[in-house]
Amino acid sequence: MSYIDSHIHLSSREYHQHYESIFGLIQATKIKCFCMSEDYDSSYNTLLLKQHYLKGTNLLHAFVGIHPQFANDLIDIDSFQNFFYSNIGHIDGIGEIGLDPTYVNPETKNSMESQKFIFETMLLLAERNQIPISIHSRRSVGDILNMLPSYRIKNAVFHWYEGSKKQLKKIINLDLCVSFGPYILYNKEKQNMLREANIDLVLLETDGPVKYKGCLENVLTSPSLIISVQYLVSTIIEKSFDETTNLLLQNASRFIHGQ
Ligand SMILES: [Zn+2]
Repeated sequence: MSYIDSHIHLSSREYHQHYESIFGLIQATKIKCFCMSEDYDSSYNTLLLKQHYLKGTNLLHAFVGIHPQFANDLIDIDSFQNFFYSNIGHIDGIGEIGLDPTYVNPETKNSMESQKFIFETMLLLAERNQIPISIHSRRSVGDILNMLPSYRIKNAVFHWYEGSKKQLKKIINLDLCVSFGPYILYNKEKQNMLREANIDLVLLETDGPVKYKGCLENVLTSPSLIISVQYLVSTIIEKSFDETTNLLLQNASRFIHGQ
């Protein structure tokens, strides 16, 4: 039996002092982590973590990419693509990528144009190499749904799904995934959104090191939280914990390896 945390940022600074315990825990509980990146440096560090801490275990799937927060005019996209192709044998997906108008800021040269340019570059990389993507879609689910059909993407997940129920139907019709995180433990609205989803297209995530509220106040977001999230999901979908585990493992396997 093993678990999946389909979206976590293990290369984040907040985790550095906890690496020994977190990677020990991942191995002991067999939590497979889809490890996200936000820029060139974190992409490089994600690959290092895979090789250093979890070599030979298949417990870390490395996603590289440029997050919309860092998708500004200053990005050297050619260097990123060179890095990508030099390491393609170790890369399992592209993420965290997407669009987010809340990051637009003239001072950091972040604009919707620069975000779209970087996102399109990442989508092309995913299409050419037939690897899955993890999408950040805050306040941009509609725009992203308009863009995706132009690409032959192997598989995609709308991480931390925040769109409408109508948009969720469109995502399901495209056979794409949505993911839910620890907020589902205390947020009734999100629990209702899960009820609207196609459970065969659902993934769970912690998005660590993001911190949560309610019962999770002041708790370090470690991959082990995924077990509590999964338990809550099993009660919502009215399946046993083990059945839910198997279902989520199958979903994650389809997401990574294709239908
Ligand atoms: Zn994230």
